[in-house]
Amino acid sequence: MKTFFPKFLFLLSLLILTGSCKKDDDNGIDDTKAENLLGLGESAEDLLSDDIYKSLVIEFVYSNGFRPEQETIDGFRQFIMERVNKPEGVSIVETVIAPPEGAPYSTQEIRDIEDANRTRYTQDDQIAVYVFFANGSFVGDTNTSVTLGTAYRNTSIVVYQETLQSLQVDRFLIESTTLRHEFGHIFGLVNILNDDIHTDHEDPSSNKHCVVEDCLMYFASTVPKTIPNPTEKDIPVLDPLCLADLQAKGGK
Ligand SMILES: [Zn+2]
Ligand SMILES: [Zn+2]
Repeated sequence: MKTFFPKFLFLLSLLILTGSCKKDDDNGIDDTKAENLLGLGESAEDLLSDDIYKSLVIEFVYSNGFRPEQETIDGFRQFIMERVNKPEGVSIVETVIAPPEGAPYSTQEIRDIEDANRTRYTQDDQIAVYVFFANGSFVGDTNTSVTLGTAYRNTSIVVYQETLQSLQVDRFLIESTTLRHEFGHIFGLVNILNDDIHTDHEDPSSNKHCVVEDCLMYFASTVPKTIPNPTEKDIPVLDPLCLADLQAKGGK
C-alpha cells in the first residue's frame, strides 16, 4: 500500500507556557482552576506518582462527530494505567459539548474553549487532565504541514480530531499515537523542564523529543502510517530511556 501523503510533513507541536494565565478575581473560580493553569511538564510528578494524588481523572471533551474510536479509548486507558501509580484508579469521563465556533483554531482559542467547557479540575487527592478533540484544525496548518495535537498546559491537551479524520489512514493508529504522544509531553517528556533528564536522549535536532527513532516520543512518531488493520502492537511505545525518566518521577 502506498503512502497517502508522501510530501506532507506532519508536525507535532509542543508549546511551553509559563503559568501566567489571566485571572478573574471576582468569583473565586480561579482557585478551583489554579492547579490546572501551570506550564507544560510542571505536573509530571503529580501525574505519575501517588505522593499527592491517589487517583487520576481524564476528561475527554468533544462535540458530536469527533469522539475518538472506542478502541482508541480502551487502549489509551491501559497505556495510562501501566505508567502511573494511582492506587485509587484512573478514570476517563466524557463531556459532549456544542460545537465550538472559530475553527481553524489558534492556541488562544483552544485555551478559551477549555476555559468555557472543562468540567474536571484537580482537587483533593485527585488530579485531572483535559483533552479536547477539536472539531477543526490548527490555524497554523499549511498545505505541507499539519498539527495533529498539542500539549499546551500542565494538564491540557488538544487533539485536532477533524484533521485526523480527514487523513486517509487508520483512525485507531493515528488517534492512539497522537493521544499517547501528547500525554508523554505532560508527563514531562522529553526533558521538558530541563532539570530532570536521566539519560541523554533529547533529540538535538527536535526540541523536547526523543532521539530514539522508534520511540513514542520521537518527533515524527505520529506521522500517519498505512499499516493494514493495525493493532495495539503497531502503536509506538516508550523506549527504555523515556520509561526510566517516568519512573524517576514516580511512575511505573
Ligand atoms: Zn511532540
Ligand atoms: Zn524515548
